[in-house]
Amino acid sequence: SRETTYRVQASPLEGGGVLVVFEDITDMETAGQMRRDFVANVSHELRTPLTALIGFIETLKGAARDDAAARARFLDIMEREAMRMNRLVADLLSLSRVEAAERVRPTETVDVTALVKAAIAALRPIAADQGATLEFRGEDTPIEILADPDQITQVMHNLIENALKYGAPGEKVTIAITREARDVSLRGPAVRIDVIDRGDGIDPIHIPRLTERFYRIDDHRSREKGGTGLGLAIVKHIVNRHRGRFRIESERGVGSRFSISLPER
Ligand code: ADP
Repeated sequence: SRETTYRVQASPLEGGGVLVVFEDITDMETAGQMRRDFVANVSHELRTPLTALIGFIETLKGAARDDAAARARFLDIMEREAMRMNRLVADLLSLSRVEAAERVRPTETVDVTALVKAAIAALRPIAADQGATLEFRGEDTPIEILADPDQITQVMHNLIENALKYGAPGEKVTIAITREARDVSLRGPAVRIDVIDRGDGIDPIHIPRLTERFYRIDDHRSREKGGTGLGLAIVKHIVNRHRGRFRIESERGVGSRFSISLPER
């Protein structure tokens, strides 16, 4: 039940009469609107830390000039805000790079098992900081697919970091690799990677929207945890580029499972 927008053009015909052409421009309108929304969102996201930075610089030049304790505290906040802007710009760049290459099939032969294990090893210290553990579940045999290793690594980082951010504090996060002889929607052999947390779970009404840019269930929590709101949008585009499938399942009070399936050939 969506509305249709028409562009109407009328031109006089030689023998009298008028030719009226209705052109359905609904998609163009939607694309234009989405671009405008995106630019407005990005501007807002960048302006928030910038406003804070400008405010603190003013204070440091004025009232707090001779207050060493306040200076140290303000510099900490300024560092955090600058780092937030840095992450946002990095995520925006990733997103635009992934989108630009979305039609170019990855060509590198990659061992998914090794890649996933490397991602887990890289994130163990962050998990340990929060008292959480990362558990690998799967066989130790190599599984080769055609992929862009940096992008699949980024997918793993985004999903595991989310599981740590939104999962129950101090809990276990499981990363499982399963080979599927035939994935129904990919119509062939596939490798599935699940990232499973034991957090609060996600209300079903949010699930379809989680991969939208800047969509957050709890704005405050995401920002507090240093989120940019772009992580799952990036995941979705990378999985699309690999002709894969991305699924989110969740149960309130039990936890969530973020799965990607990638074609093996
Ligand atoms: P963010 O930077 O806010 O984490 P993402 O695109 O990675 O952005 O995720 C979007 C939103 O999806 C998050 O703000 C959070 O509300 C929700 N979300 C993501 N992963 C999980 C998870 N494992 N459990 C519960 N909610 C999650």
